[in-house]
Amino acid sequence: MKKSPVDRDAILNMSRSMAKKSPAKAASKRSVRSKVDPAKTDFKTLELYQQIKVQRDMAELLQTRDPYFLVHEGRAGATTLVDGREMINFASYDYLGLNGLDEVHAAAKEAIDTFGTSVSGSRPTSGERPFHGMLEQQLSELYESEAALVFVSGHATNVSTIGDLLGASDLVLFDAFSHNSVTTGCKLSGATRRSFKHNDFDDLERIISETRDKHDRVMIVVEGLYSMDGDTPDLARLVDIKERFGAWLMVDEAHSLGILGATGWGLFEEQNVDPKKIDIWMGTMSKTMSGCGGYICGNQALIDVLKFFASGFMYSVGLSAPLCVAGSKSIEIMQREPWRVEKLQSNGQYFLKAAKAAGLNTGLSQGFCVVPVIVGDSLRAVKLSNNLLERGIYAFPITYPAVPMNEARLRFFITAEHSEEQLQAAVDITTEELKKLEDANFSLSTSISSLHESK
Ligand code: PMP
Repeated sequence: MKKSPVDRDAILNMSRSMAKKSPAKAASKRSVRSKVDPAKTDFKTLELYQQIKVQRDMAELLQTRDPYFLVHEGRAGATTLVDGREMINFASYDYLGLNGLDEVHAAAKEAIDTFGTSVSGSRPTSGERPFHGMLEQQLSELYESEAALVFVSGHATNVSTIGDLLGASDLVLFDAFSHNSVTTGCKLSGATRRSFKHNDFDDLERIISETRDKHDRVMIVVEGLYSMDGDTPDLARLVDIKERFGAWLMVDEAHSLGILGATGWGLFEEQNVDPKKIDIWMGTMSKTMSGCGGYICGNQALIDVLKFFASGFMYSVGLSAPLCVAGSKSIEIMQREPWRVEKLQSNGQYFLKAAKAAGLNTGLSQGFCVVPVIVGDSLRAVKLSNNLLERGIYAFPITYPAVPMNEARLRFFITAEHSEEQLQAAVDITTEELKKLEDANFSLSTSISSLHESK
């Protein structure tokens, strides 16, 4: 076959026009240097880094142990191994102790054998597994909802559900003590945000009556049991408000599923409210469900919307087999063995009563699974936690901004596995150690003053 002559001009023209749109130009653009201060690329110049550094330096100067990222050498149940020593543990929220059961472990191991450790893709695009539907069915039955959806993270469940359901014309009203995942979702949504005073529904009603007409959709967000304070909201009152003002009510059950109610079904069981009256039930799988992940239960339209538009679901991997199956098994055991819930509740009451009798400030706690011991000063809380650790008790200090300034505390997570002896020992030792710090007038300001003096 006779070859056609090479058209050099056409080739040159084409390459010139490609060059105009091409990476060569982009490359030359990339090589332009801006006059930005080179320090701006150093993470250490971030104010956030500076905050951490000041805290670390202060801990060193004041000879306190940094309480973060303590390494456990095995499963953290009622006891845990730290630095080779057994501690009584109050820093983990395996409230019913199910994370320690062979039955849960065996189910998770079997699921790994069949499905592997990851589902290796998002459910809409890579496909479902039977265990997803099974867990969602169990959760729907629990809340008597039409449908349910499980996410890979509890935090992402709140962020995506609130953040993607609401928009600029909407209003979100949340309790002042709400968890970070709630407030982050509220910010992301772009909706008008208003917080109401903690558990103060007169305040909520005042805000909603002043603002309802200015907004399209309104969502009220509360928690079933507050994770820093251990108290519960009045669900019937919330239902009444949301019905009168035409709002959605979302309840985060992270610390109430498996804890509240005679059989652990949560806030609605505890307060005898029809669960169908709540628009959005949310919960996490990291507490009583022995794994991690989050869930939403509600009507079918809500779940359909979330399946396609909740970014934390649509654009994230599906829940893995062992976590999903551990969650299912935990719900099954919780329903089969209500004595665990009973034991948790009696332990919570025991601890609260003993702490109050010892004169400790337990704030608003109702004595379920979260009991704070409020000490006020943040450094005193850290030092108290350090001193308890020395004496074989692990309770984590919580300081600002997780709780209001001057309300620093040790938070005790109570579980069904704790014995009364362990609970009493924790109260006795906390009381003793706190008294020593109070007698020495140990606080952030006195410690800083003594640093100045010793300069
Ligand atoms: N909601 C509340 C009330 C929480 O306390 C937490 C954290 N434990 C979350 C949501 C986020 O859940 P997770 O840690 O399982 O992501």
